[in-house]
Amino acid sequence: MAEVKERKKRVTKKNSNKKDIRRIPCLTLRGLTVFPYMVLHFDVGREKSIAALEKAMIEDQELFLVTQKDAKDDDPGFDDIYKVGTVSKVKQLLKLPGDTIRVLVEGIRRGRIVEFVSRKPYIEVDIEEEKEDDGKEVTLEQEALMRSLLEVFEDFVKLGSKVSPDTLISVNSVENPGQLADIIAANILVKMEDKQNILEAFDIQERLEKLYDILVREIQILEIERRINQRVKKQVDKLQREYYLREQLKAIQKELGERDGIGDEIEEYQKKIEEANLPREAYEKAMKELDRLSKMPPGSAEVGVIRTYLDWIVELPWNTETEDNLDLKNAARILDEDHYGLTKVKERVLEYLAVHQLTQHMKGPILCFVGPPGVGKTSIARSIARALNRKFVRMSLGGVRDEAEIRGHRRTYVGSIPGRIISFMKQAGSKNPVFLFDEIDKMSSDFRGDPASALLEVLDAEQNYAFRDHYLELPFDLSKVMFLTTANTLDTIPRPLLDRMEVIHIPGYTEEEKLHIAARYLIPKQTKQHGLKEGSINIPERVIRDIINHYTREAGVRNLERQIASICRKAARRILETKQERVRITSGNLKKYLGIPLFWYQKAGQQAQEGIVTGLAWTAAGGDTLSIEVVTMPGTGKLVLTGQLGDVMKESAHAGFSYIRSKARDFGIDPSFYNNMDIHVHVPEGAIPKDGPSAGITMTTAIISALTGIPARSDVAMTGEITLRGRILPVGGLKEKVLAAHRAGIAKVIIPAENEKDLADIPDNVKRKVKIVLADHMEQLLEHALVELPGPQKPD
Ligand code: ADP
Repeated sequence: MAEVKERKKRVTKKNSNKKDIRRIPCLTLRGLTVFPYMVLHFDVGREKSIAALEKAMIEDQELFLVTQKDAKDDDPGFDDIYKVGTVSKVKQLLKLPGDTIRVLVEGIRRGRIVEFVSRKPYIEVDIEEEKEDDGKEVTLEQEALMRSLLEVFEDFVKLGSKVSPDTLISVNSVENPGQLADIIAANILVKMEDKQNILEAFDIQERLEKLYDILVREIQILEIERRINQRVKKQVDKLQREYYLREQLKAIQKELGERDGIGDEIEEYQKKIEEANLPREAYEKAMKELDRLSKMPPGSAEVGVIRTYLDWIVELPWNTETEDNLDLKNAARILDEDHYGLTKVKERVLEYLAVHQLTQHMKGPILCFVGPPGVGKTSIARSIARALNRKFVRMSLGGVRDEAEIRGHRRTYVGSIPGRIISFMKQAGSKNPVFLFDEIDKMSSDFRGDPASALLEVLDAEQNYAFRDHYLELPFDLSKVMFLTTANTLDTIPRPLLDRMEVIHIPGYTEEEKLHIAARYLIPKQTKQHGLKEGSINIPERVIRDIINHYTREAGVRNLERQIASICRKAARRILETKQERVRITSGNLKKYLGIPLFWYQKAGQQAQEGIVTGLAWTAAGGDTLSIEVVTMPGTGKLVLTGQLGDVMKESAHAGFSYIRSKARDFGIDPSFYNNMDIHVHVPEGAIPKDGPSAGITMTTAIISALTGIPARSDVAMTGEITLRGRILPVGGLKEKVLAAHRAGIAKVIIPAENEKDLADIPDNVKRKVKIVLADHMEQLLEHALVELPGPQKPD
């Protein structure tokens, strides 16, 4: 509003040197200070002010303008106004609508009130006016002050105060120091008190100094203000830029028909997280990740990583449980429904479930089903889950050698996901499934860490309520899970793991058992699975036996089931092609379905031969027969052993050999045979590694047969460890071995006397067909194994 009117340096001399007191109408201003040389307009509305204005207009148009201390005061008294003001000339009047008058005034010179004359109808005061100082020499000090003042004023303007640059140009040409100070003071926006202070400085030097101080202070304030502004602006700029870019991206995505950016997704995740009923720690972590996601520019690689992580968290069954069916009768019914025989196993499982039901927790030992493949270990576990009405998941540990497979990789790995435990828990969808670790004996460890120790933690009831996966980085409760394990052999299970497990052996099946399993379970199951009507395939008992004996060679029934499946496939095709209702499989047409027989067991009754004896072996696939061959030839007494024999087996061959040497005479063998003869023992099949002491007596018998020339019976098989003195020590895996002998049509099996206790496990029908002989010394054995007993060498 204020604007400078430059005045000539030499102002009118009208009042020069006038010292008199002057009576003048006074107008009080609200929040406004008028300086000499200043032209401004303001609106007048108060009655008193208008009266003062009228009085001035009647006289010389001069008016004393003074600021009131409180702008809100409508009728200020004498004490409520400052004593110093400006005598001003009214230049123009303009009547505005209402009773308001707009006046244009020009400040002329300072005046100080010496006397208040009256308050009504307008304020009238006696004032003492400032003296004109024109013509006075400008002192050096004033000159210096003027220069400094101009400099700071320039800075002040540059710093962005609301002074027009024109003002800067015009003040530069002012030579009168008092006038300069007044013009500058009029043009700066400072506090009213500051302005009044300058107005009250009649002394020019004092006025210049005061103004200088005020300007310096204002510059400081402006600089601080500018710094703050810059900081704020920077932030605002950044946010605005991001906002703008995001909006742009949204628009682009919309154009492309993609979903509405990340915003919708965040909302969706938020909903999912709320609904997932997460434990506190998981909830907090999920929210933190979500927050990170929302701050992430869409399209960055990290977004995908966070998204996958959140998906895992919301999909895991943190608090979802299925209700157990605790009815033991029901459990027994289901186990019987799914499996033939296995009485002991079923009983043990039911006991386990009963204890579990009574104790209401899972802290007991973990069941481990041990046995050859295909004997129903996995399917028993599946039945347990069905009986309890729990979800079932199966994780194969075969070939697991890396701890990360169990525990996952940290998220810093590219493409990392949780370990298999957590993956399977997600698949189960409940926190209390039956979790089967299959083939726990096939797990190995190497430099990538020991999976067994991670598994230990999983199986340990004291620790598994807070299982930590490397990827999730959150504790997950596995304490409600029912863990079961299976293995083919106990030998390779790490000791600490084995200690936590209760082993249930499931040995192989006899032909009879297989027959029942096939007829009652496998054939109906496969018929159904192949979409055939019940009874549409007829496989008589004799044919099933043929399949068992000539198309499979196993302790379990896995291949048997496969062969039956393949019959079903072919039968299905036949039924469709020929529109037959039923297909009958006979011994005659079996070849058409299964091809030529794969196995022919060496049947008893073949000719007895020298140096060939049948042994019995235990393998991970069940028991098997093994024919050991020995030949003698002229040489220097070497004992050659072939057929990939392990150290223990080689040593027991040597033990047998020494026993024969020490007893040579008793067997009718030339005691110096080892001087001029080499003996070669071979155990087929040559490519399969074998070990263990249980072939000791078999090898010894074969050597004796070869050396004495007495043939060994081909329908006798044997198993047992030998000592140097010819004693027979007990061996393991007896049931499997006897079953294998039975399969092979062996009539008599010789076993160590101390193994008598194991005979209880052998099914009666097998015992009926295979004669079992207990022997605790080689001498007892030879009587059964050789066609005639070797006698002491007759003296020549
Ligand atoms: P494993 O886990 O011991 O290798 P599986 O459980 O896979 O063996 O069994 C192979 C097949 O044999 C399955 O279809 C299973 O149902 C069947 N089976 C095994 N034992 C029996 C049994 N006693 N009664 C009925 N079916 C059986």
